Amino acid sequence: MPKQKAASGKKGTRHVSLIVRWVSIVAMTIMVSFLVFSAVVYNTVKQEALSQQKYMSNEVVNVLRKRLIGIDDELEITNVVQQLSPNTRRILTGGPALSENDNSNSSVFGDSVLSTVTNPDMTVAIYNLRNEIVFHNGDSAPKPVKFTSESKSVTKEGKDGQSSLYIYRKVRNRKSHKLTGYIVVKNQMTGYNRLISRTLKAMLWLSILGISLAIVISYLVVRSVVRPINKMSKVAREVNADPNSTARIPELHRNDELEELALSFNMMLDRMQKYIEQQKQFVSDVSHELRTPVAVIEGHLSMLKRWGKDDPQVLEESIDASISEAERMKHLIQEMLDLTRAEQISVHYPNAIAKPMEVLTRVVGDIGMVHPDFKISLEVEDLDPDTKIQIYQGHLEQILIILIDNGIKYSTDRKEIAVAAGQSGQEMQIVVQDYGEGISDEDKKKIFNRFYRVDKARTREKGGNGLGLSIAQKLVESYHGNIDVESVLGQGSQFRITFPVLTDEEAKELESREEQKQAGTESPKQDPTI
Ligand code: ADP
Repeated sequence: MPKQKAASGKKGTRHVSLIVRWVSIVAMTIMVSFLVFSAVVYNTVKQEALSQQKYMSNEVVNVLRKRLIGIDDELEITNVVQQLSPNTRRILTGGPALSENDNSNSSVFGDSVLSTVTNPDMTVAIYNLRNEIVFHNGDSAPKPVKFTSESKSVTKEGKDGQSSLYIYRKVRNRKSHKLTGYIVVKNQMTGYNRLISRTLKAMLWLSILGISLAIVISYLVVRSVVRPINKMSKVAREVNADPNSTARIPELHRNDELEELALSFNMMLDRMQKYIEQQKQFVSDVSHELRTPVAVIEGHLSMLKRWGKDDPQVLEESIDASISEAERMKHLIQEMLDLTRAEQISVHYPNAIAKPMEVLTRVVGDIGMVHPDFKISLEVEDLDPDTKIQIYQGHLEQILIILIDNGIKYSTDRKEIAVAAGQSGQEMQIVVQDYGEGISDEDKKKIFNRFYRVDKARTREKGGNGLGLSIAQKLVESYHGNIDVESVLGQGSQFRITFPVLTDEEAKELESREEQKQAGTESPKQDPTI
């Protein structure tokens, strides 16, 4: 018992871990997808915004360069300032954008140029070849660096985490291409920095929100799946501990696969318990049935031992009685074996085919010879001689023998049995009619049960064990047929069996399957029941 407890405890923990495992897998997947998605979006936004900033900064550089390339000598304060229009000079040195003194001639740069230069993010510095500053706006002029190509752009991150863009450009005289100085533009990129920090923040919050939502939703979903599984395993443990337990999974009201599983599970438990019950009943019935013949044989043997040995008449009687009881036992054991085997037909004879006309003619003829005092008639006008049904012919014989034999056993004065067969549509019927003692409505429900006999003592006299109809029913149903009875007490009984008729295609298919099976097996299977 403690072992079982430990096992169940272990199972319980595993269920918890199932939730944790599923939730973490879902959360991790969503997190990774989110991170990848965020990284892609963030980088795209960043690249796009940065290239926009570069474009703007280059515009400023170009505006200045266009003015400075006209200077022949090295850039100096005097020639540089002279080249810049009053407006640009004023703006670059921090003055207002428009002045009352402005006239159209002095406005060398267009409005668009002015607007780029007036961008408060831009700091401009102009250096000569000795790296001496000749012009700058703003408080601190961006420092020059050494660079080999014509221009260079660098993004630097400040201590405050804000990025700035530096553009370095060589200035050459328009005609002589002589190097005259350098332009340095620093763009503080306030808008860009703001955009990047807002994007980052938004993504962070979105990720936190997304992951939390994913965890909550996946937890709820997984829990709703795991809960019924837990219920099932609880019921399974209860039934495992006590096979007679009536514990079942309660209705799940889910209308999904789990509901179906729970229903199948409950059905399986019902069936299993029914089988266990039947098995118990069978064992008790069998022991009960065997007890009588064993007791009879034992009685005769002890009688012989005490005083029968010397009395030839007693000796003779006792030996005869014992032999007859032993035969009864043998018959009973054979019937019990038949009953058990009748349940496994689909395994042994999946492709069997029989022609009912042939089987009926043979069986009725044979029984008629054994019972010459009986009139056993056969009427098969409505049956096509080529009609085929899916059944092993030995089993059809066995069913017919059981029914005709019962008709004979339970007959009264009228020693007559009428067997008829016919076909309607895709079904064929065989009717075995007797004119014997009949069966009451109450007994009709029970006669197919194992070991059920209407009158135990009388049936025993007739050699019946109450197994014939159970075997017949099992056989018929195994071949997808049906058996029922109509009877009037004192007048006779009519047993009717129906089987589905095989179409030509079905028959051919079964025959070819059987041929393949025969080719695959070395020796054909022997019929175990006949
Ligand atoms: P048994 O081997 O005892 O005949 P069956 O299972 O064949 O067992 O039949 C069960 C019981 O049903 C019989 O004991 C008998 O009482 C009743 N029964 C079966 N067939 C007939 C019949 N044709 N007429 C009257 N009673 C029948």
